[in-house]
Formats: sequence, structure tokens, C-alpha cells
Amino acid sequence: MPKKPAQSKPAKKTVERAFKGLAAAPGIAIGKAYVRFGDHIEVREYTIAKTKVAAEVKRLGRAVDEARQQIHDLQKRAGEMRGAAGEELVFLFDAYLGMLDDSRLVRGARQAIEQERINAEAAVQHEYSRLAIRFEAMGDAYIAARLDDIREVAQRLIGNLVRTPSKAPPKPAKGGIIVAEMLSPADMAQIDPDVVDAVAAALGGTEGHTAIMARALGLPAVLGVADLGDNVQQGDIVIVDGYSGQIIVSPTPATIKKYEKRLAEKRRGTRALDRLRFEPAISKDGTSVQLMANVELPVEMDAVRLSGAEGVGLLRSEFMFMNRDDIPSEDEQVQVLKQIVGSMKKLPVTIRTLDIGGEKPAPALLSHIDEAAASALGLRGIRLSLANPDTLHTQFRAFLRVAPGRNIRILLPMVTTPGEVKRAKAILVEAAESLQRDGFTLPDPLPPVGVMIEVPGAALAADALAKASDFFAIGSNDLTMYTLAVDRANEHVAHLFNTLHPAVLRLIQFTTQAALRARIPVSICGEIAGDPRFTSLLVGLGLHDLSMTASNIPMVKKRIRDMDGLAAGQRALQIMEQTDSGRIAMMIDDFNALA
Ligand code: PEP
Ligand code: MG
Repeated sequence: MPKKPAQSKPAKKTVERAFKGLAAAPGIAIGKAYVRFGDHIEVREYTIAKTKVAAEVKRLGRAVDEARQQIHDLQKRAGEMRGAAGEELVFLFDAYLGMLDDSRLVRGARQAIEQERINAEAAVQHEYSRLAIRFEAMGDAYIAARLDDIREVAQRLIGNLVRTPSKAPPKPAKGGIIVAEMLSPADMAQIDPDVVDAVAAALGGTEGHTAIMARALGLPAVLGVADLGDNVQQGDIVIVDGYSGQIIVSPTPATIKKYEKRLAEKRRGTRALDRLRFEPAISKDGTSVQLMANVELPVEMDAVRLSGAEGVGLLRSEFMFMNRDDIPSEDEQVQVLKQIVGSMKKLPVTIRTLDIGGEKPAPALLSHIDEAAASALGLRGIRLSLANPDTLHTQFRAFLRVAPGRNIRILLPMVTTPGEVKRAKAILVEAAESLQRDGFTLPDPLPPVGVMIEVPGAALAADALAKASDFFAIGSNDLTMYTLAVDRANEHVAHLFNTLHPAVLRLIQFTTQAALRARIPVSICGEIAGDPRFTSLLVGLGLHDLSMTASNIPMVKKRIRDMDGLAAGQRALQIMEQTDSGRIAMMIDDFNALA
């Protein structure tokens, strides 16, 4: 919500201080802090050029129209609710709509843009603060409740405006370390890894998409550092230790030296692993494993090629929809996909349809539904795509246009029923037919369509899903989250996120066996696939197709080349008899130590 009055910062401390957080992405970085703290919705104020004032007023107008549409939608749903609560909500939303007409809030904000020449979001915030001061001075309970309503509307307007910023946020200097309260996956997509050396944030867990993107970009990251906000100031030297999850602020010269030494050692280790790049991933007794890369952003493609990946096992297409307020056109999608798919030549590329919802935002698709509707248990993944069939149709047309002469597979996220697969396949066929009518060459046959197994119900019904789909990709991140009821991006429950929990392992085993029985390919592309500690367990369970962050491929390959596949299978059977995740971890470590 609108910012509290600025508090004077404490005097700069230069004593070394260490803070513990969650080791979210490996690596060490030493650099100057670029601090981005404040409200979740960051409202920056800046001056508008005289010639741009009219455009800024228009931008406010668009945010008002958008808010009006959002509230109408909410009101419609409230009207469908039974009983007094629904009725009351309908009246409340009427009041909100009134505030979006020529109310004091909107009028005042417009005047602030015109007279003070400030940006629209700051203008809304100022006007709200002015109203708050006046209302609070009245000391009346009814008026105080009205203020809550105004805050709600102002918040919505600011949200709409911030999602469509007219000016990009200032960039950190080269070698800088971003220190923030929260970094969303969309924020990560805007970070240039050639400029920024590491990230740290007060919120966030190790399995969320922010952490995954940090690993993909090769940026050391420490998340969930509770005391960060009050202890780091702009320009402080900080060390981010993405191995131990430590942040050191104002390190002494001796600490810096110690970390520089560790950094050099790590680099030597990486160079040794790099030599394995073109060696096959075959165990000592001849078990062959396919190692593929997960890709979240096109900038990763150089790293993918250098890693020796045998293809892309998971292309998270949502990056194309982030940080914009419109839906990318078919041509735009084709252009981006062509670059990615083209760079893999004939190697397989599995493109996943949009997995928006949950912690992954996409304003263009989500602006007309409220946030709760797109929660982790709501309209996420294939559900949101099937609710927006035109967007899915366009995605499929783009996939099919890049497919001829390439090795493409299509993957559907968050599937729970065969019906969803059938509906998606029908849209794929429609997309193919429309392309044919438009004179495009189609791939023949159409690409295989597979499903992510990432919901416990999908895993338990894997036999039924196998009949409707051409392959499985196990998403162990969400499978763990939904099985254990642990939000993967929430630092408070990060200690409970455990893919070695017997319930999760049993679902992975059950899915793998269902795929083998149905004779369809099965891969795993959650974070567990890229951790060499777990390679022997996965291979032992029959998973011979692993997809991971490209930089982990050499480590996993080394583990496979040192391993005995038969022994891994026997050990996996013993592990699956266990009921305690601590004991399972111990048995894995023992096995790894022997081989
Ligand atoms: C998963 O859930 O394991 C997965 C690979 O998908 P994402 O991390 O993109 O949700
Ligand atoms: Mg997932």
C-alpha cells in the first residue's frame, strides 16, 4: 500500500555483519549493494516532462478503466453468491465503482499529474495520503471504514499502473548485487546477468521460480534473509554466499580474501568438470542416461550449448508473457522460439505451454481475474490456458510454425484429468487446420503432446493420463509442494519442502512405473533432477531422462559415469521400503560415498 512516511535511515555501520538465509543458487559474489526495499508494490516518484503530461493523464485513465473492469467482474461473481454476504459485496463494489468515477481520489490524482508534474502511480499515492490525513483527523469509525475502501481502490489503481510502468526502474552498476525485499520471477527476467553478480532478498524460498531463475542465470542467490532490510544500505559492500546461504555486509579485508580464495577454488573445479562436456552420460555398467536442459530465458542458450545438453527437456514459455501488459503476437512468439529451437539444430526441444498463475505473474492474462482465482490451487497452468483458448490456440500455432524439420514435443503443465489433455489436443488440431488454411507447412506427424505430472492426483491417476498423452515429464517441484502442502516460494516453510519425503518418492516411482507399463517416455525436470546427490536414486527408479539447469549437467554426468546402474537400482528398491526421509537421505549419501 502507499508508502509510510519516510523514516530517517540509521547512520551507516561499517562493522562486518553476517545474516543467514536460504542458499537458493550456488556461487559466491562480492560487490556493491543495490538496495530495492520498500512496499511490495514499489511506487517510485518521478517528474513528467511538460509535453508528456497529457499521456500520463491518459495512462491514469487506462488504469481506471482497467480497475472498473476488474471490479465489474468481481461484482458479477459476488452477484452469483447466495445469501447476504454476496449482496453486501455487490453494494461494496458499487461504492468502489463510484470512487472510480470522478471522485476526489481520481480527480486529485489527475490534478497532481497536471500541476505537480509527477507520474500517475505517485499521484494516486499522494492523493490517498492526503485523504488519509483528512479522514483520520475526523476520528469517526464510519469515515475510517470509508478510508479502507479508498485504500482498496487506490491499491488497485497503483497495482494496474505499476504493472504497466512508463519508465523502467533504474539499473544497478556492473558487478552490483541486488538486495531486495522480494524478487518475483518477472523481476528476475529483467536482470542482466552480465551486469548483476548476485541477488539477495528478505522473502522467498529455495524451490520457487525466483530461485530457479537465479540458478538458470548463474547468479548466486540467498533468499529468505529475515533481517536484510534494516541492515544493508545502498553501496555497502556485501558478500553473497549462495553455497551456505550467508550474506556478509561490510566484510573485513580478511573475510574478502577468504572468499576470493574459495571463489578461485570453485572456478578450478568447474573447469575440470567442463572437460566432460562431450563425453557420454553412461554408467560404469552401461546404463545410458539422457541429460537435457531446462530453459526459462533465451539468454541461457549459450550456456545450454556449452553444457553438452542433449536437448531442451523443458522450455518454460512463460518468459514471453512476463513484464508486459499485452499478449505477445503469434509472429513475435515464432521469432523467439525460432532462435531457441534453431540453436538446438536437430536435438529435441520440449516446449511447455504457459504455466502462469501461482507465483508466476502475467498481467495481460491475469488483469481480468482477481489474484485469488489464479492462485496455486486456482486457474494455473493448463487451467488458465483452457480458460483463454485463443491464447492457447496462438501458442500452438507458433509452436507448429517452428516445428517443421525440428524435433519438437509439446508439454502441458498442471494437468489433473485426461479431459484437459483432450481439450488441449483438440485446440492443437484446430491450430494445425487454421495454419493449413493459411498456407503454412505443417510438421507431419504433429508433435507428441505430453503432460507434466506435478499434482498428486495426476500421479495417482498416471495410468489414465498415460492413455491420453504421448509422454510424461515429472515436475518434482510442484509435486512436492502439492503433496506436502508446502508453498515452494515461502521462506517460513522452506524447511518442510522435501522431495525425499516417502510420499513424494512413491508418487515419482508410481508415475515412472505407469509410464513404463504404458510404454510412453518419462522424464523428470524438477530441481531434484539437477542435484548429483539424487542422481543414483532417480536412475535406480528407472528415470533415464533428466532435465535440469544447464550448468548442473557436467556434475550430474560425472555422477552417472562414476555409478554402477545395477547397484543403483538395488539401492533404490531398498530406499523405497523406508518411511523416514532422514533415513532415506542417509542411505543415498552412503551409496554415493561408495561409488
Ligand atoms: C516442476 O514443478 O517441477 C517443474 C519443473 O515446473 P515449474 O518449476 O516450472 O513449476
Ligand atoms: Mg511445475
